[in-house]
Amino acid sequence: MPELPEVETLRRIVERELVGLTLARIQLTLPKLLRDSPLPDLDLLMGHTLLAAERRAKVLITRWSGDLSVLTHFKLAGQLAVVRPDGRRIVAGHPVPDPEGDLPHKSTHLTLTFDDDTIVYYSDLRQFGWWRLMPSDDVEATLAAFAFGPEGTGGDGFDLEELAERLSRRRVAIKPALLDQRVVAGLGNIYVDEALHRARIHPGRPANSLAAAEVRALHQAIGWALERGIEQGGADIRRGRAYPRDGFPAVHARKDEPCMRCGTPIIKTTLSGRGTYFCPVCQPEPSV
Ligand SMILES: [Zn+2]
Repeated sequence: MPELPEVETLRRIVERELVGLTLARIQLTLPKLLRDSPLPDLDLLMGHTLLAAERRAKVLITRWSGDLSVLTHFKLAGQLAVVRPDGRRIVAGHPVPDPEGDLPHKSTHLTLTFDDDTIVYYSDLRQFGWWRLMPSDDVEATLAAFAFGPEGTGGDGFDLEELAERLSRRRVAIKPALLDQRVVAGLGNIYVDEALHRARIHPGRPANSLAAAEVRALHQAIGWALERGIEQGGADIRRGRAYPRDGFPAVHARKDEPCMRCGTPIIKTTLSGRGTYFCPVCQPEPSV
């Protein structure tokens, strides 16, 4: 958290609520947010207008007047709260601080005030998130350096043959293989569990052991899981418990609850250090 669907939700909020506004005030209380920023002084954005919001994998890209751009990574606990002049709030990202609580919160590290008195609070309980300000001309090269794989959300970039090829070169378990951002960009823990359940593949199977039909099912399931997440504005998971809507999430954060396909209790295990949920009947362990 926040994963691709959550970051896409954040992007849509920025696009809808902030594009066209000009920055009037900046309060930064955690300078290390800018630790790897090519331009270390966020005040350079003062007086500039937000022009567009884009996304690549889990990176939010905001374009500003004056040929400036900001890359933001929310990492484990980033949250953005937009408070409109009439008091209306739009909050997305990590569920802490409480979306209805007082702002700024003690974990709010950056406050942006726009010329119409819209205020944006960036909070980050874990402080792993980052903001990087740079000339817009440098964005492409900066993103290229991350070597992201194709976006899993479908469209032209996410090719079945390419996925098959990338998986065939990996002997690790399919779950960590899919978490590798060079294989599919933006896939995180929740959506990998969901895609594997939908495709009926055990998370511990070696990535290069998948049959062609399984890779095809997985390719389709990845797009499905990310689309469901985007549609719902991010999976509804609170305090480690899923609250499924329309059958999603089907397995993640549903330990001991019945599989939505076969009724078998969902198992939680740990794989490559990540909490992993699966159905032992729909996703059988391969026989040795
Ligand atoms: Zn099942």
